[in-house]
Amino acid sequence: MTPVEERLRRLIALGGPVSVAEFMAACVSAPDGYYARREAFGEAGDFITAPEISPIFGELLGAFLVDRWNADGRPDPFDLVELGPGRGTLMADVLRVARAVPRFRSAARVVLVEASDRLRQVQRDRLGPLHPRIAFLDRVPTDRPVYLLANEFLDALPIRQFVHRGGAWFERTVGLVEGRLAFGLSPFPAPFREAAPEGAVREIRPAADALVREIAAHIAALGAGAALFVDYGYDGGGYGDTLQAVRGHAHVDVLDRPGETDLSAHVDFASLAAAAREAGAAVHGPVAQGRFLVALGLLERAGQLGAGADEATRRALETAVARLAGEGEGEMGALFKALAVTARTEPVPGFQVVADGTDW
Ligand code: SAH
Repeated sequence: MTPVEERLRRLIALGGPVSVAEFMAACVSAPDGYYARREAFGEAGDFITAPEISPIFGELLGAFLVDRWNADGRPDPFDLVELGPGRGTLMADVLRVARAVPRFRSAARVVLVEASDRLRQVQRDRLGPLHPRIAFLDRVPTDRPVYLLANEFLDALPIRQFVHRGGAWFERTVGLVEGRLAFGLSPFPAPFREAAPEGAVREIRPAADALVREIAAHIAALGAGAALFVDYGYDGGGYGDTLQAVRGHAHVDVLDRPGETDLSAHVDFASLAAAAREAGAAVHGPVAQGRFLVALGLLERAGQLGAGADEATRRALETAVARLAGEGEGEMGALFKALAVTARTEPVPGFQVVADGTDW
């Protein structure tokens, strides 16, 4: 039995079933949880993220932040923030772009928000040699403008689930049935009463919504800054259970080996956009990741790197571009989306309406 499962069993024995949000937090970000103990990333791990596929991803996102910093009149000093930096690959690529913009680099303090001590050490080793000012903080600081990236971070934050039964909604729980972890329902109906088919699942994301609201309020208050969220998810509407567990690049049962399995849920971009707007900031997107990256120059950059390169390098570039921007099975271009929060409603690179009037 995993340490997380032992702890959950004690908790449930003491106080009864826990919510899906408590279960998720215990599995994902607790000190004995998934990211603290397991090597998640890469072929030998459980999944591969966009920055691990190609450095072009980080270069384009870095250029996006530099552009927003320029548009804000080059604030100095500012915080270059990343939420959940994983192996530090994305920030390393952003800092490489920043080398070409000395004023951006010298004005930036790099702030990393990371729950896992193990990954903090990986990030310190990787990024320490690349930038003189790096801080590990538990939350996004609000004393200067922020230019912020979060890739596959919001999907790891705890969600709550409610199931529609007999005309009311009941929170989904995790308890013990015949000595095994099992899903159940709270006996108390939730305070909302919208109609839905029997058995429908509704999800809410209090942690993600609150975080985006806080960052948006800071950007609105200073009239400067930008936050870019990239994740897989949907743009509002519909019901469904999106909680998923992944181990060794395959889907597994959500309750299997808690703490040794990556748990995540689809991000509701409409809900994030509403939270940011309520806080007084401007929202751009969501747009599909593929279209976003292509608008930022993915194909040109890949062409540049491929020119004069050998056949194997060119083929690797093509594969990377297809994985990042393709819209087919197993590709990220349509499933993943980008959403930006800024201070002003002005056109922002990657989010423009295209000539035929389609709003990507
Ligand atoms: N952005 C990286 C890693 C994504 S995995 C990439 O694209 O490769 C999610 C990251 O968020 C991990 O670094 C994980 O440890 C961190 N994380 C998950 N929940 C967190 C929380 N509640 N607070 C801070 N960091 C968290």
